[in-house]
Amino acid sequence: MLRARNLGEADKIFTLFTRAHGKVNAVGKGVRRPKSALGGRLELLSEATVTLHRGRNLDVIAQVQTLRSYWMQLVEPDALAAASLVAELVDLFCEPELALDDIYTLLVGAVKAIAAAPAPAALIPRFQLRLLHALGLAPSADFCIRCGTTLEENGAWVDVDAGGLGCERCYGARGDAHAFDAGDVANFRALGAPRGGARATLAATPKVARAVDDLVTFHLGRRPRARALLDTFAR
Ligand SMILES: [Zn+2]
Repeated sequence: MLRARNLGEADKIFTLFTRAHGKVNAVGKGVRRPKSALGGRLELLSEATVTLHRGRNLDVIAQVQTLRSYWMQLVEPDALAAASLVAELVDLFCEPELALDDIYTLLVGAVKAIAAAPAPAALIPRFQLRLLHALGLAPSADFCIRCGTTLEENGAWVDVDAGGLGCERCYGARGDAHAFDAGDVANFRALGAPRGGARATLAATPKVARAVDDLVTFHLGRRPRARALLDTFAR
């Protein structure tokens, strides 16, 4: 479950992310009543088998069988903030009723990792960059966004407004603060590499973390709400 909001006196609309149908909105009837059988079962980012009945406007949740719940781990404020950001990003980037198997797998892996991590906020840059890759929005780590030449190993420039990395010839003279050194370039490549790959890494350098965050904001057109929450607890 990605999101829940109240509807009427006792109902809630849940935004679910499913492997088969992508993002789906469904009503939980009476879930805010104390005796509701469904009430406590749909937790943030728990994984469940959900039976839906077709409704006139929205589908109605008939049954929920929880498969995995991370509620105990996610009550920690920093873990909850990281999990909330992950849920918000999937909600904002994914269109309803569009199956996105790669993103489902990415989300399941991220939630599991956040629940187990000593510093959950450190996992966010890789999740963000892998999400951009899965959506086809990740910038090339190999070619300049302006002229298309191969980027040098020893440095690159981040052009957030263009959504990518640039070469020294196009950007070097601008004295931009968003310059990557050789370590950042290598880190950016490793951070976006598929899981289990020889060069994959989980941790971002500070400049790469900032750039990935700015790229997410560029594509969304605004900063996710949970970002501020995460910054508060990650300090
Ligand atoms: Zn260039």
